[in-house]
Amino acid sequence: MALTETVPAAAPPAHEGILRRQSLRESAARTYARSLPIVPVRARGLTIEGADGRRYLDCLSGAGTLALGHNHPVVLEAIRTVLDSGAPLHVLDLATPVKDAFTTELFATLPGKLAETARIQFCGPAGTDAVEAAFKLVRTATGRDGLMAFSGAYHGMTAEALAASGGAQHTSVVRLPYPYDYRCPFQTGGERGAELAARWTQSLLDDPKSGVPRPAGMILEPVQGEGGVIPAPDGWLRRMREITAARQIPLIVDEVQTGVGRTGAFWAVDHSGIVPDVIVLSKAIGGSLPLAVIVYREELDAWQPNAHAGTFRGNQLAMAAGAATLAYVRTNGLDRRAGELGRRMLDRLTALAAAHDCIGDVRGRGLMLGVELVDRSADADAMGARPADPQLAAAVQHACLERGLIVELGGRHSAVVRLLPPLTITDEQAEAILDRLADAIAAAVRTTPGPTGSSPTTMRGTSP
Ligand code: PMP
Repeated sequence: MALTETVPAAAPPAHEGILRRQSLRESAARTYARSLPIVPVRARGLTIEGADGRRYLDCLSGAGTLALGHNHPVVLEAIRTVLDSGAPLHVLDLATPVKDAFTTELFATLPGKLAETARIQFCGPAGTDAVEAAFKLVRTATGRDGLMAFSGAYHGMTAEALAASGGAQHTSVVRLPYPYDYRCPFQTGGERGAELAARWTQSLLDDPKSGVPRPAGMILEPVQGEGGVIPAPDGWLRRMREITAARQIPLIVDEVQTGVGRTGAFWAVDHSGIVPDVIVLSKAIGGSLPLAVIVYREELDAWQPNAHAGTFRGNQLAMAAGAATLAYVRTNGLDRRAGELGRRMLDRLTALAAAHDCIGDVRGRGLMLGVELVDRSADADAMGARPADPQLAAAVQHACLERGLIVELGGRHSAVVRLLPPLTITDEQAEAILDRLADAIAAAVRTTPGPTGSSPTTMRGTSP
């Protein structure tokens, strides 16, 4: 399919009617629909076509779900094969050949040491249910209750998953500092900042008067996604593994967003070589259909039959689409491709940051990239960081949409523009994404006054 060019025909009434009815009928809690008022009717690869005839480059990818983009032929073929076979589509958690093939393919990709003795629990088909299952599992196995999680984390919207997320207000989960170079709470950043964060964790666990009892488990994301695309240093991850292993605390790694090649390794833990006790998987493992599992060390398998039941744990189409996706990423080395292309895109984003003082930081790993927008008129702190500028970020997102580019916002203040393109994009498509983003940032800077009333035109030189 050719790269998208927007065809801004006058919006037909059907398109407007659908959007109007959505805003009248759907919940006030609706999410992406608010900032992305489009009506997708067709999609292939990176491209979505709206009911108004406009085409968009989709860098939201179902919040990081679409490793192979929309409607990849191998995914469609896998789904059609199940449909044509007459296999039952609903089977609770019964054994089927489709499920058997999915589990075999998944285990083939897992870190060796985990795969050797792994157990898998099929969960209700959302990442958040798998997070709940992981908490239940480690609580049962350890007989302990508390949990450790990190500032800025996102693990889902059900009660316990939300309590472990950074946005939670009243929670008994102990919150630990996550290494965030640009806004390092220890004002050092780099390896030293990460080491201080690790020492803080260690001291909480070892100080008998810290007020923190030994927890049932620690949960972390190897790259915080919703938290603003913050990759954890490999050394810090290894420290977390050592600290938890030495104290018999199960380490739960949430790879819901980072898995299946997204960060430049098949699983993000592969970069550091750590082997978690529990790994939480969803999004891309279902090949665009709903599927969520936890995979864990056999020794933790102490819970009772029915401990984490649910009606929709046997989605055959998702397992077939997921197995096809995992196999395609593995056999085509798309994890390595994501790493290489991601590095080149990050270089270009770094050049863009040098041209715009409203870009405080650019970062990412593989094809999980973020651009943090800041108030260009505010004073920088001792580390050179400026306050976030959510208003400018929203303007950039809007300007991107006008230019036929769909991006998500994330981060503590929704001021980080996030790029999560499919792993299948070409070099040319990557360039087109960055051209549109650069153009959108320049346009938003021209039209948006900073939160402290800065002049709307403060560019450093020319944009790349
Ligand atoms: N964990 C992580 C790291 C996530 O990014 C998300 C979703 N963005 C979840 C858990 C929750 O997944 P779901 O929305 O499918 O419940």
